[in-house]
Amino acid sequence: MIALISDLHANMAAIDAVFADIDSVGGVDRIYCLGDVIGYGPQPVEALDVTIDRCSLILMGNHEAAVVGGAYGFREQARRAIDWTRAAIREGVAKPRAKRLWDLLRNLPHKHHFGDVLLVHGSPRDPIMEYVLESDLWEGADPRKMPEIFSMIDRLCFVGHTHRPGVFTEDNVFLPARELTDGYDVSDGLKYLINVGSVGQPRDNDPRACYCLFTGDAVYFRRVEYDIEATASLVRDNPDLGARLADRLGKGQ
Ligand code: ZN
Repeated sequence: MIALISDLHANMAAIDAVFADIDSVGGVDRIYCLGDVIGYGPQPVEALDVTIDRCSLILMGNHEAAVVGGAYGFREQARRAIDWTRAAIREGVAKPRAKRLWDLLRNLPHKHHFGDVLLVHGSPRDPIMEYVLESDLWEGADPRKMPEIFSMIDRLCFVGHTHRPGVFTEDNVFLPARELTDGYDVSDGLKYLINVGSVGQPRDNDPRACYCLFTGDAVYFRRVEYDIEATASLVRDNPDLGARLADRLGKGQ
């Protein structure tokens, strides 16, 4: 069984709780991380260290790309958090460790294939930046977007990035994770795009940390309670992160 995690966002209380949950499930032989280990949260170096230690793969997320390449196109609050994160990594730790982390961040892969399964942070068309949202299925949305995305998927594609877990079917249905409490069978040969949700900053109105287990035949969304206030107070006390980012952790928004 494989565990897929994404969007940890430097939230150590959530990250520790998710790794503990993975260990308690048993039978997980690989953990894949779909990016955004850092950004928004108060503990980027710790988050990178434990994720490097526990995961067989870390993909490039838009926050890693912004830390190494510049925070272009981000809103003010996110940009400040990214600039703070860059400084915390480059100047906040001893030189050899900072260089090791920086080299790793610069060289993260953008996508990964195993069998007929594709892993990306955003979407198959644009692995780092593109969002695939429920609203892409609504009337008025670009009618070419979802067919083009599905044409690039052999069978399954796991993504993160939106922080909203669930399953997109090829016939334009989105099944939110909260409706899939018994898991979801993906063994019928049809194509699925599966959003694994966010460990460190869920945005589906459920503040619990989220990740996904994949057996080869089915996916299971796990929600894990963690000490939200432990992270929120660190965020609040950091002038470059601030109260708004702290408050959204408690709301799951
Ligand atoms: Zn993210």
